[in-house]
Amino acid sequence: MKPRIAVILALVFVFSISSIAFAQANSDADRLMEEALRASPIEQNLRHLTDEIGGRVPGTPAMEKAVAWGVAAFKAAGADSVHTEDFRMPASWAEGDTEIRVSAIGTAIDPKAAVGPAVDFKLRAVSIAWAPALTAKHVPVVDVGGGSAADFKKAGDISGKLVLVHTDVLKTWEDLFNEYMKAPPVIDLAVKGKAKAIAFLATREHDILYRHTNAVAGEIDKIPMILVAREDGERVGRLVTSGHPVWADLSIPNKIGGPIKSTNVVAEIKGSEKPDEYVVLGAHLDSWELGTGALDNGCNAALVIDAVRAIKAAGLRPRRSIRFILFSGEEQGMMGSRAYVSAHRNELDKVAGVVVIDAGIGRVTGFTLGGRKDMAAAVSTIVEPLKQFSANKLTTEDIEWGTDNFDFLLEGVPTLVANQEEGNYLVNYHAVSDTFDKVDISQLKKHTAEMTLVAFGVANAKDRIGLRLNRMQIEKTLRDTHVDEQLKALGIWTQWTSGKRGRQ
Ligand SMILES: [Zn+2]
Repeated sequence: MKPRIAVILALVFVFSISSIAFAQANSDADRLMEEALRASPIEQNLRHLTDEIGGRVPGTPAMEKAVAWGVAAFKAAGADSVHTEDFRMPASWAEGDTEIRVSAIGTAIDPKAAVGPAVDFKLRAVSIAWAPALTAKHVPVVDVGGGSAADFKKAGDISGKLVLVHTDVLKTWEDLFNEYMKAPPVIDLAVKGKAKAIAFLATREHDILYRHTNAVAGEIDKIPMILVAREDGERVGRLVTSGHPVWADLSIPNKIGGPIKSTNVVAEIKGSEKPDEYVVLGAHLDSWELGTGALDNGCNAALVIDAVRAIKAAGLRPRRSIRFILFSGEEQGMMGSRAYVSAHRNELDKVAGVVVIDAGIGRVTGFTLGGRKDMAAAVSTIVEPLKQFSANKLTTEDIEWGTDNFDFLLEGVPTLVANQEEGNYLVNYHAVSDTFDKVDISQLKKHTAEMTLVAFGVANAKDRIGLRLNRMQIEKTLRDTHVDEQLKALGIWTQWTSGKRGRQ
């Protein structure tokens, strides 16, 4: 996920329903949560997905294995039906053997000497994902500080150079938001100035490398880019600042191919009264590949599968159907959920809600309703049993545009995305260190209980939690939450205004 800035506003709603209905709903909730918290295959499923299959980039054998894992695990969980749906992505991408060497003329120790000894070392670096390949030797390095327009102006001529961009250490959701928002103008300035490539300093300390992308729809980016280990990047910056010329030899042999097929996995529990209407409980199955995609988002893919098991074990059937979907291509721009929405456009009136979780194991505090106050009363009733976990706060002042709810939201469908604390998500985000050992299984089971309850509650509610919004209403929520400004900065807004994406 690429998170929004969350304006956390807890809405407390007083509600009154008949005591009989409440008792019934409560006992269903208790049964669901009890079953979710019971001993289950969730840990084993996640270990298989992460340790044995590993990182899952669309177009790779690992992604295909993960799809087969999803199908088998959904069947074992007792889903009424399981199938897969293919879609196309514009390009395949894989990193080659990236090697970056830096050379410089060092500082003379002997004051009479004109120049010091040669400096030469290898940088710990990886390519930015979906960036073009490059091989170039003796490329001058220029430091553009934080990468603002003023910084670029100060740096002067950047043509043919490697542009070094400094960053802040990632600590909060807001920092991560800023990391994504910062890149597009830097890329524009670098392209305009005819730079050879961009080197972003990692926002994580201690040499941690991670897979970052600036592509928003699976497209190959405009300029070669690398992510440099923070400590190495600072060292290069100091060399440049010392006034001696610094060069880089860049070998970034990314393997780029044409369009690829990727696959969503869909399981279903049929509704008892309105089987044509359905709720989606979704999480993405794909991941980056430096680590094994445990926090992002393997643990929540395993959660979605275990929700099927818990509902079946509780012996409950919701009024409406529930589709449990493991999306692919999320990391390249929510490609799988976008494809699902476009393939199912003629049935979107029947989607009663979409529930998504995508922030690792950080404690769930509640749900964002995508700027929709009209849903708050109905949803507050559904999440009432989560009060015991302090997971029932609803936020309506923000929109999550960085995960698989987004294209449903652009179609006016009610969406609920789990609001989560940072936990250990950010330090391991997309990183070499995103591995099975980072997942607190007892917390994951608690989240399974919470998400199962919410998806079931939306599917089982007597009335739908919200209407499908029309295009004008959707645009109003985008503007009211100021998400339009963020989408403009990322180049996504024109997809909405041109009608390429979202409700017609
Ligand atoms: Zn994610």
